[in-house]
Amino acid sequence: MGQNWRYSKGIWNRLSIPKHRFILWLALKQRLMTRERLAKMGITECTDCCLCGVDTETHEHLFFECGFSRRCLIQLHLWLGVRRHDFSLYQHMTWLLRSHETGSFHRKVIMTSVAALVYQVWRARNDALWNNKVPSIQSAVQQIKFNVKHRINQVYKNMTPMEHRWFDLL
Ligand SMILES: [Zn+2]
Repeated sequence: MGQNWRYSKGIWNRLSIPKHRFILWLALKQRLMTRERLAKMGITECTDCCLCGVDTETHEHLFFECGFSRRCLIQLHLWLGVRRHDFSLYQHMTWLLRSHETGSFHRKVIMTSVAALVYQVWRARNDALWNNKVPSIQSAVQQIKFNVKHRINQVYKNMTPMEHRWFDLL
């Protein structure tokens, strides 16, 4: 991956949890072993999404056309005060990287949350595939919120009083 790849800056956001960054990177590069890819490699015949079962499991579907991930995304948008819901993962990254409408800390928190969401969706998908268990939207969203709050409290040391007020209310 070149330093100049357009999404680099968003992926290597230092607030994001390292293992989340890695899965985000794989997702943007379309390198996760989705069922569509497994089928192309002759490893499986079934290409149905493990989470919803209604569509082909591609990267585009998982992030975020799938009913499961889409509903998690909407919950996170409500939580963070993001008003648009029409994002694919790529649109999300592009918007975050050029967005001027939100302050920089807010944007970093959204970026951290997107990375956490991608990780959680992929984890839920693996759980569905291997353990036949799809987590509830509610528990997936709770986990993401917990990870984001914990991580940012741990690594972001220079919050302004205003940022603090906003973040503490999340
Ligand atoms: Zn699905």
